[in-house]
Amino acid sequence: MSTANSICLPREPDDLPHQRTTPLPYGRQSLSADDIAAVVEVLQSPWLTTGPCVERFEAAIAAAAGADHAVAVSSGTAALHAAVASLGLGPGDQVIVPTMTFAASANCLLYQGARPVFADVDPQTLLLDPTSLERLVNRHTRAVIAVDYAGQPCDYDVLGQIARKHGLALVADAAHSLGASDRGRPVGSLADLTTFSFHPVKPITCGEGGAIVTNDAGLAQRMRQFRNHGINLDFRQRSQMAAHRYEMIELGFNYRLSDIHCALGLSQIQRLDSFIARRRAVARWYDQQLVDLPGVAPLAVREAAEHGYHIYVVRLDSSAGLDRDTVFQRMRSAKIGVNVHYPPVHLHPYYREHLGTGVGMCPQAESAYDEILTLPLFAEMTEDDVADTVAALRWAIAECRA
Ligand SMILES: *Cc1c(COP(=O)(O)O)cnc(C)c1O
Repeated sequence: MSTANSICLPREPDDLPHQRTTPLPYGRQSLSADDIAAVVEVLQSPWLTTGPCVERFEAAIAAAAGADHAVAVSSGTAALHAAVASLGLGPGDQVIVPTMTFAASANCLLYQGARPVFADVDPQTLLLDPTSLERLVNRHTRAVIAVDYAGQPCDYDVLGQIARKHGLALVADAAHSLGASDRGRPVGSLADLTTFSFHPVKPITCGEGGAIVTNDAGLAQRMRQFRNHGINLDFRQRSQMAAHRYEMIELGFNYRLSDIHCALGLSQIQRLDSFIARRRAVARWYDQQLVDLPGVAPLAVREAAEHGYHIYVVRLDSSAGLDRDTVFQRMRSAKIGVNVHYPPVHLHPYYREHLGTGVGMCPQAESAYDEILTLPLFAEMTEDDVADTVAALRWAIAECRA
């Protein structure tokens, strides 16, 4: 995998033209006084959890995502788990997942005893490759979990055609792409089930949190039950009915999202459009400033996609002598918080050991992994921060020879 024989000469941050005094993180939340006031208000109210803020947050998510129902849960991972459980996936079932993603996109299947099957990605976009998907479908395949890598929606028209042809459920892991769209159709309206994450680096945050949206009332009801131990009525419904009886219908979890978290999310989602606009502006600055940097190529954007820019990823041309790990180290030494998204899931030791996956199964993702670098991108980033990052990158790739 990674090329240990770097052909980049060592460099010291001393010869960097402009040294930052403060480190630049790769991602960071944007919190306002209104966000803080909304949380304080809930803390002074009778309901810290299963209260009215949960439904209000769910209604706001459903509206932003163009879907009939939203179910708030405790994390993006819990959202994926609830989606998989609501579809009734279990032992004997296979689900196709792109390998270029965070491990949670595949782990959620193992929680229910279903089997992830790893598909390769398009080398230009790092989105699930429909050709690879179709090759992997067999009589055990029940669903696809597509991933809107970096905040770019997949081509759900194509994925939906394949899913319908083979009778598969289509799930979108949209942890990166709340607020993005495809020809004006919002992420959340493009797949059967769409999951979001509200971790601090994601498009909006609750601290921790997640949600699933769908137009299927039955699936939504099942997920509400699943997040509450598989019990058919929650605490507030029982107290409204002055009733103590309840029944546990199936095995669920405590995946509830508290009113404290939902108050923050509800306040944050009011600014979703401005966050996305700002992320797109930062991406434009990068696009413009990177054009004359040979060997550094931003990922491609599909023509129909209105990108959410959760992250800004470039490929460093290894055939031109650029060694990603060397550039990574140099950027970190220049106080630029670069990252790498992601090590392909099928190469994690757990998957190699338990599913027998390994090198060679997804060649496009494997070679991309050696070349990708995530540059800082968040809503409060300034044009000066972008200039610092590009100057550091120019410095970091200098004196690398082919
Ligand atoms: C962040 C993320 C998740 C998990 O979300 P959490 O809220 O951290 O549990 C799942 N899939 C992808 C692609 C992610 O980036």
